[in-house]
Amino acid sequence: MPALFVGHGSPLNCVADNAFTRDMRRLGGALPRPAAVVCVSAHWQTSGPFVTAGARPETIYDFYGFPPELYEVTYPASGSPEVAALVVEATGGVVRPADRGIDHAAWMVLRNVFPEADVPVLEMSLDLTLDERGHYELGRRLATLREQDVLVMGSGNVVHNLYEIDWAQDAAPADWAIVFDAWVRDAVAARRHDELIGYLAHPLARRAAPTAEHYLPLLYTLALQDDGERIETVHESFQHATVSMRSFMTV
Ligand code: ZN
Repeated sequence: MPALFVGHGSPLNCVADNAFTRDMRRLGGALPRPAAVVCVSAHWQTSGPFVTAGARPETIYDFYGFPPELYEVTYPASGSPEVAALVVEATGGVVRPADRGIDHAAWMVLRNVFPEADVPVLEMSLDLTLDERGHYELGRRLATLREQDVLVMGSGNVVHNLYEIDWAQDAAPADWAIVFDAWVRDAVAARRHDELIGYLAHPLARRAAPTAEHYLPLLYTLALQDDGERIETVHESFQHATVSMRSFMTV
C-alpha cells in the first residue's frame, strides 16, 4: 500500500468542486483498495500519541464560522478496533487507543477519495511532546501497516499561514509561499529527509508554518518511503494565497 500525504486546506473543500477535490476523487480510483486508512491528523494534538479505536467514530466538526451546510455533512465510515490494535502493536505500545471521532483532516479528504465511506477510517494524533525527529521515528514504526494493506495518510499542509490568508479560495499564491512550497517539493523528490525534518532552519519556515501541526504529518509519510520508492505528486495548488494543497504518495 502506498503512503500518502494530503494537503487538506479549508473545510469548504468538502462541498467544493475544484482542482483539488477532482484530484482527490481521481486518487480514489487509482489507489489499491486499502483495508483501512490511518490518518495522522494536524487537528488532533495530544500529550503522548493516540489512535482512534472505536468501531463507529463520529464526524467531528472542529471548525467554526463556516456555512451551515458543512455541519450537516457526515462521513459514516466505520472504525476498526482491529487496525487500532495493529497500530499499538507496530509501535510497541507507544501509541495508545483512544475513544474519539474523526476530524475534517480525515473526513473532508476521504469524502472525496472514498465517497462511499466504505473503507474503515482511524486517526492518529500528533504527540506534542515529540520533536521533529521524534515524529519521523514514530512514523517509521508504522511501516508494517503498509504490508497489511493499511493506507497511512498524513493530513496537513506544507504551507499553512492563516494570519496572511486571502479569503478568496483562488487568490494568487504569495511569493514566499511559492518559494517554501517549491523547496519542500524538491527536497521530497530528492529524498532529503534530514533537511525536511530540520525545516525550521529554512529562512521562510516560520512564515510558511507559523505553527507546526500542519507541517508535521508530512514527516510520517516521508518516514514510510521505502528505499526503492519515489514520490508521485497527486495534486499541487494553493488556496487562499497562503495554503499549499500539495499532496503526494510513494510509488
Ligand atoms: Zn487543517
